[in-house]
Amino acid sequence: MSPGASHRHPLAGTTDVIVMGAGHSGLAMSAWLAAHSVDHVVLERGEIANSWLHERWDSLRLLTPNWQTRLPGFRYQGAQPDGFMATAEVVQFIQNYASYIGAPVRTGITVLSVHPDGDGYRVQTNHGEWHCRAVVMASGAHGIANVPALASALPASVRSLTAKQYKNPRQLDDAGVLVVGASATGLQLADEIRATGREVTLAVGEHIRMPRTYRGRDVQWWLYVAGILDQRFDAVDDLVRARRVPSPQLIGTPERATLDLNALTARGVHVVGRLVGLDGHKAQFSGNLRNECAMADLKLNRMLDTFDALAERSSVGEMLGAPERFAATRVDERPRLDLDLANHRIGTVIWATGFRPDFSFLQVPAFDRKGRLRHHGGIVDAPGLYVLGLNFMRRRKSSFIHGAEDDVRDLGEHLLAGLRQPARIPRIA
Ligand SMILES: Cc1cc2nc3c(=O)[nH]c(=O)nc-3n(C[C@H](O)[C@H](O)[C@H](O)COP(=O)(O)OP(=O)(O)OC[C@H]3O[C@@H](n4cnc5c(N)ncnc54)[C@H](O)[C@@H]3O)c2cc1C
Repeated sequence: MSPGASHRHPLAGTTDVIVMGAGHSGLAMSAWLAAHSVDHVVLERGEIANSWLHERWDSLRLLTPNWQTRLPGFRYQGAQPDGFMATAEVVQFIQNYASYIGAPVRTGITVLSVHPDGDGYRVQTNHGEWHCRAVVMASGAHGIANVPALASALPASVRSLTAKQYKNPRQLDDAGVLVVGASATGLQLADEIRATGREVTLAVGEHIRMPRTYRGRDVQWWLYVAGILDQRFDAVDDLVRARRVPSPQLIGTPERATLDLNALTARGVHVVGRLVGLDGHKAQFSGNLRNECAMADLKLNRMLDTFDALAERSSVGEMLGAPERFAATRVDERPRLDLDLANHRIGTVIWATGFRPDFSFLQVPAFDRKGRLRHHGGIVDAPGLYVLGLNFMRRRKSSFIHGAEDDVRDLGEHLLAGLRQPARIPRIA
């Protein structure tokens, strides 16, 4: 049994709220519900912090610094506030939080389905059935690794791995690797694999370039003081697009190094455009690489302008280093448009093409025509149903550990108002 988990709680029955998932989001919601005396149970299919235990690659460190890693009433207290937690430390942090709040977690319980049931929900698990007034789905934003449809055309001789399946370079044969996707995940995997001496090609589409530090401060500090992380979902022009923006090209290392395309090409990674086709052994890439990189450079410089303007207006400006600008991304005059996987001995393709949540258990008519969950900042379009931890769900920081506190408070208040109603939970903006 994982720390903080308990068998004191029944396997089935009736409660006010079922929280699905004992990651940081579900636990933060549990703490809020307990503080407001709401009867609830947290159902977890694996162990506490299961995603960090089983679904990350071995060398991963958070890209948010330790000072930022906090949950309601609980924060990093170690000696390295500017460091970045390794996966095992994140697991420990979340398990310690579960113990600290005494969360009513039942581990090893998989929610198989959630059905509407009178004024609430019927939650079917592998160990029985629950009836509740409300369900909070904190089952993770990264349940399914996105793999483009063209992956099915990959020749059988080339191994296909998602970023969830990849653990370390020892899994790979000695051949070259094509990494598809240039967000934080793609860059980190390309870098790690290249360091083993393998030939690595990185297919790059839209991406967000960010330095690790700027004027002596971590970029996350800048994003925080500029209020960017607190931007609300109802204050952006194109929310669908904002929710699709890839994660920034960042890595958390003890050296606080910047990892961008220039760093990778300097280490011998071959950078090509977005993967657009597979024809037999031939991979085809978009000719748009230079534009994609120019756009990322432009957005980076705009962001740095914002930071500089902020420093001008603020008294902390004097304590910072001088403004700086970074070299434009170096791209070949005529980047490669195709690659023969056989001739170039590519043994593996790694899909670092993002993730999406898995709501296959949800038997509630709350999806749009494209199969996306209909929700307003986490308040699902079905009374008493909530979701947590999605990308830019209520705020830009919603999917990060430090983003849980504000979202849980907002959704908790809405949920509690509903429980106090004799009938169904009302929908409010
Ligand atoms: C590669 C990567 C790097 C990241 N780096 C950072 C970072 O640097 N800083 C940061 O703040 N955040 C980071 N995140 C984002 C975020 O912190 C994590 O995704 C986090 O795991 C999300 O927490 P969660 O509680 O919402 O979901 P999860 O941690 O995924 O927890 C969901 C839980 O629900 C359980 N579950 C799922 N389905 C069921 C079911 N049917 N029945 C019962 N239980 C179920 C799962 O087992 C899991 O334990 C990163 C994410 C990824 C993927």
